[in-house]
Amino acid sequence: MTKTAAQISSKKILVTGGAGFLGSHLCERLLGQGHEVLCVDNLFTGTKRNILHLLENPNFEFMRHDVTFPLYVEVDEIYNLACPASPVHYQFDPVQTTKTSVVGAINMLGLAKRTKAKILQASTSEVYGDPEIHPQVESYRGAVNPIGIRACYDEGKRCAETLFFDYQRQHNVNVKVMRIFNTYGPRMHPNDGRVVSNFIIQALRGEDISIYGDGSQTRSFCYVSDLIDGMIALMESRDGFYGPVNIGNPNEFTILELAQNVIRLTESHSQLRFYPLPQDDPKQRQPDISLAKSELGFSPSVQLEEGLKKTIEYFREMLHNS
Ligand code: NAD
Ligand code: UDP
Ligand code: UDP
Repeated sequence: MTKTAAQISSKKILVTGGAGFLGSHLCERLLGQGHEVLCVDNLFTGTKRNILHLLENPNFEFMRHDVTFPLYVEVDEIYNLACPASPVHYQFDPVQTTKTSVVGAINMLGLAKRTKAKILQASTSEVYGDPEIHPQVESYRGAVNPIGIRACYDEGKRCAETLFFDYQRQHNVNVKVMRIFNTYGPRMHPNDGRVVSNFIIQALRGEDISIYGDGSQTRSFCYVSDLIDGMIALMESRDGFYGPVNIGNPNEFTILELAQNVIRLTESHSQLRFYPLPQDDPKQRQPDISLAKSELGFSPSVQLEEGLKKTIEYFREMLHNS
């Protein structure tokens, strides 16, 4: 039987961490493009609920597996997203967090080397630590406390970047390294303590909004669909472009402004309540996305108000059904 054009260009793609927040959106998008997707996840923070709607698709396969153990499969591309991403979850078992980033990267790079697959690493703005320059450009080397409570994540991700570039130089593996800035949207874990999900859930329940510190610290929030655009554009970028490249939305807000926006959009009567700032909490964060613009044509299009409305709807429904 002759193959259709779609079948010829269809690839077999591995997504580690595919049952998580970003991973489930990525699997959905890749399936929509006609690819075969193998979703590998140990369900530490991810859930089958995130991928239930994909299980019926004959091009989708789920495998429960921990990336700190070797994995022998045949694939054309690998998106390596497996790693708990919120401070509450990555600090729950910090040794396992470092293992997931470092041993997981070695295994996935070994797999890429054997199968000659292209491999993308979901790195993070946390490699910049509590940054001394603003906004952050890719050439900035960061200010990370190597022995603090965020180090298991930050240093794990930094070491994974080292491994990606060494596998490229030493074994000629085709790597793509993406530094993701704070991303939000439907399917965020309701209990992972991240600021957007916390504030929305608190506002919808009429509970106090928990502000850590005085709320003057800043973050720049990217809606999930924009982030996935950037991720796929990076995977498809020209040969020889390895990154690292920042992907995020440069519109920066204080945490207090975020709280006020959430209260307004949910029409909530919640009050602000102040708590101590956690150790090593970065004071400001904003991506410089010039490189993503010039190399990938990346330009985020969903602004905070629109993205928050969609996320609020998701959590409203979740709370209604629980
Ligand atoms: P998430 O916690 O929803 O997803 C991570 C997924 O990895 C989960 O499904 C989890 O079960 C899985 N996982 C964890 N350890 C594993 C292991 N050892 N083996 C197999 N699977 C494992 O978080 P997310 O926000 O979707 O983040 C996805 C990736 O993007 C992570 O690597 C994270 O570091 C990175 N990232 C996310 C953000 C963000 O704002 N969401 C920012 C920067 C970087
Ligand atoms: N690996 C894997 N799947 C593969 C190939 C390798 O999980 O298809 C793992 C394997 O456990 C190995 C690691 O990746 O330890 C690194 O592989 P590499 O070939 O770089 O190193 P080596 O096999 O020499 O340790
Ligand atoms: N934060 C907050 N209240 C919360 C959760 C978080 O004030 O309920 C603050 C947190 O201290 C940080 C910012 O919001 O300054 C973003 O936190 P998050 O955990 O979402 O992401 P990260 O610190 O990893 O950027």
